Parts: sequence; structure tokens; C-alpha cells
Amino acid sequence: MGIGSILGRLLNKSRLWRSLKARIFVLMMVIGIIPTVFVRYGILQNYEQRAVEVRISDVQTQYKIFADHLIKYNYLADTSSEVINAELDQISNLYDGRVIIIDKNFNIIKDTYGLSEGKTMISQEVMECFLGQNTANYDNQNHYIEMTTPIVYTEVFPDGEESISVEGVLLTSISTDSIEMTIEILSRQATVIQVIIFMLLVGLAVALSNLLVAPFERVTSAIAEVKDGFQTEQISVPDYLETEHIITAFNELLGRMKVLDESRQEFVSNVSHELKTPLASMKVLADSLNCQENVPVELYQEFMQDITDEIDRENKIITDLLALVKMDKTQGDLNIENKEINGLVELILKRIRPIAKQRDIDVIFESTREEVLAEIDEVKLTLAITNLVENGIKYNEDHGYVRVTVDADHQYFTIRVEDNGIGIPEEYQEHIFERFYRVDKSHSREIGGTGLGLAITRNVILMHRGFIKVESEAGVGTVFTVKIPLTYAAK
Ligand code: ADP
Repeated sequence: MGIGSILGRLLNKSRLWRSLKARIFVLMMVIGIIPTVFVRYGILQNYEQRAVEVRISDVQTQYKIFADHLIKYNYLADTSSEVINAELDQISNLYDGRVIIIDKNFNIIKDTYGLSEGKTMISQEVMECFLGQNTANYDNQNHYIEMTTPIVYTEVFPDGEESISVEGVLLTSISTDSIEMTIEILSRQATVIQVIIFMLLVGLAVALSNLLVAPFERVTSAIAEVKDGFQTEQISVPDYLETEHIITAFNELLGRMKVLDESRQEFVSNVSHELKTPLASMKVLADSLNCQENVPVELYQEFMQDITDEIDRENKIITDLLALVKMDKTQGDLNIENKEINGLVELILKRIRPIAKQRDIDVIFESTREEVLAEIDEVKLTLAITNLVENGIKYNEDHGYVRVTVDADHQYFTIRVEDNGIGIPEEYQEHIFERFYRVDKSHSREIGGTGLGLAITRNVILMHRGFIKVESEAGVGTVFTVKIPLTYAAK
């Protein structure tokens, strides 16, 4: 594993790095520091190069003149010239360097350090110089420049022609300590500037990272306030588009939660009310029996029958409620099987027909297909269809009919439950799927309705990823159409 990836993993794990503030800080520091490092390095490097070039060109001009003097005073043949020796001393002092003069035979005839006189010197630079080339090499490790200058003799013939010959070579090394010193001073100044920039950067990065992250902290505290219940109003942090998006999403969630909370409260109060009604009736019935003396047995029996009816009703409400709550809790928890729908519907109708018969209501079954196979939860779908058919009977006139039709295409199967009963006025149609909603409370109560049947039906159908719609006309009849996919698509 490379150092990079180890560092990456460490950073990923560390809590600090996961902070946006820390990231902004680090980013600003990096962006701020990198240019100063490059500028420092670039300027110093450039200065050194330029300074060395200038020094070389200066010295070379000087040595060229000096080389002419050597020819003029015939120094290569005779090194006793006072003028030249004085000039040599002056030059070597001036450049804080060593001057070696080599003659045509590669013999060192003069060395200002006095170390190599009489020795022979053959090096590549010297050879190149004898061919008429100046050479200059900068040794930046040891801080000196080594240079060669040809000592050129120019003979002018009477006809004006010139002949040039290299009579010797000036081999010199000059110190660049002064350049190094300047670089050191510059570098120290650069360090001071860098430290100042670094400190300014730290301050700026801290301030900016705090400033940039502040709106997010405001989002957190606004949400916390809502959580602690200080306010139920919509919150707003419009500083950034991003915070606005978060807040919008949060407000939507808040709105949804409020609606849910309201509907939960309404549900609880509805449930309490619905459960209390049969109890209140029982209490009235029992009290009236208790208050009377010498109650005839028939009245007792009649009242006890009424009490039993109320108990049945209470029981039905609780059963329906449990069915509904269970369905809410186990959303998606369907027991899916491949079932034949015609058979399923026929079985439901068979069970219901005896009740319909009591009021001479005709329950008709029709199917356009011989076999409709679909993936459904048999128990839940049976409950849903039973509710629809029972409603068709309950909200019907005597001698009416309920017609159930099954149809299918390659994607969906459809169950239509049609009756010619009392119908549902248009303004109530959108509410009938709500829990405890009944168009005519007293009528529904009379016939044993809880107002939960259609809510259960709709839940079951939605769980099957299907949909249900109602068409109805008061006094004419009602049609419920249920459409469910043949294959169940789990989320
Ligand atoms: P309930 O237990 O009262 O029948 P439902 O949820 O099954 O409750 O139905 C809600 C209301 O919708 C009923 O009270 C009734 O007013 C109306 N309704 C449902 N089905 C029909 C229908 N086939 N014809 C007329 N009204 C209906």
C-alpha cells in the first residue's frame, strides 16, 4: 500500500477531515502557500543565473584586454614584465581568484597561487581554448567559475590581411562568494516575507472557513430549534442556494410531518369517538333497565338484544381498525402467490350471496377471460373485494343487483363492482376512501358500517401497486373499478 493511500485512508477516517471548515482551511492554506514557495524558488534561481552570467561576461571582457596586454609585452616569452605582474595581482585580487597562464606548449608559465608553475596542463577546456573558444563553467557547489580565455596574436600583413594565432591560454577561476552572499540575504528576506504571508493566511483561512460554513451551522441550529419545539413556523436560511435547498426539503418534511401528526390526532379522536358510541348506547340501555322496576321479560330480552348488537358493532370496529393498522405497519409485507382471479371472485360472491338473498339482491358474476392468473395476496385482496361487494349490497335498494366483472389485458387485471343502489353524490366521492368517512352517518350506522371498509380496500390495492376509482350517480348506482398489475413488482 502506498503512502498516498495510507494518508488517504487516515484522512477519511479522521473526524477533523470530514469537517467542511477544516477542508476549506487546508485548501486555502495550500492555495496560499504553494505560489509563495514557487515565487521564492523561481526568483532566487533566476537571480543566481543572471548574476553568474553578468559576472562571466564582465570578467571575459577584462581578460580579453589583459590577454592583449600579454601579447603586447611578450609575456609568454618573458614573465619578468613588472607592468603585467602588477596587473595580474590586481586582477586576481579584484575577482578573488586564481590566474594561470599557459603557453603554446601547454606549460604553465605563471600561476598567481605559485603552485603549478613549470607543470604541464592539458584539459579539455584548454584544448578547446587553443582552438579559439572561450569556455566558462560554473561550479555552484564550490562557489566558483572556471574560465578560459585564448591569448590571441593578430599579425597584420602589409596588404591589410590579418592572421590570427592562439599563442596561449588564460585559465582562471573566480570566486562567486559575493553572489552566494546576496542569495543568502535575499533568501532570508524571502523567509521573513513567507512567515508573514503564512500568518496572514492562517488568519484569513480561519476567518473565511468560519464565514463560509456559518450558514450551514445556522441550518443546524434552525433545525434544532424546530426539534426542540421552539417554533413550528417554516424556517429560512437563504444565504446559499445549497442551504436554501436543504431548508426547502426540510420544510417540506416538516409540512408532511405536520399533516401526518394532524391526521394521527384526527384518527385517534375518531377512533375514540367511534368506540365510545356503542358503549354509550349500551350504557343508556342498561341504565334504563336498571332504573325501572318490574321490567317485563320481553323488554329485557329486547334491550339485551340491542346491547348484543352494540357489542357486535364495537367488535367489528375493532376488527376493522386492527386490519387497517396492521396494513399500515406492514406496508409491502404481502404474502404474494400466483392465483386465479375468476375463482377467487366467485368464492367471495358465493359467501356473500346468502346475505344478498335476504333483500332479494341479485349478485351477478361475469368474466371476459377464462383464466386470469395474477400475483396477489389472497387474504388481503379477498378482504378488499368483499368490502366493495358488501357495500354494493348495503347501499342498495331491495331487489337491486350487484354485478362483478373480471377482465384482463397483458399487464393488468380489472375487477368492476357495479350496483344500482343509492349512489354517492359527486361532492362526497373524493372523501369516501378516508378513514371513518361515511356519506350518511346514520344510514351507515344503521346498516352496520364503520367507515373503514373503503380505507382498507384502497390500502390493499395500493400495496399491490394498483389503483381504484369510483364513478357514481345519486339514485342511479355506483361503479368501483380496481386495476392491479398481473405481476407484482417489489420495490
Ligand atoms: P362503511 O363501513 O360505512 O360502509 P366504507 O368505507 O365501506 O364504510 O364506505 C364509506 C362510505 O362510502 C359509506 O358510508 C357510504 O356512504 C359510501 N359508499 C360506499 N360504497 C357505496 C356504494 N356502493 N353505494 C353508495 N355509497 C357507498
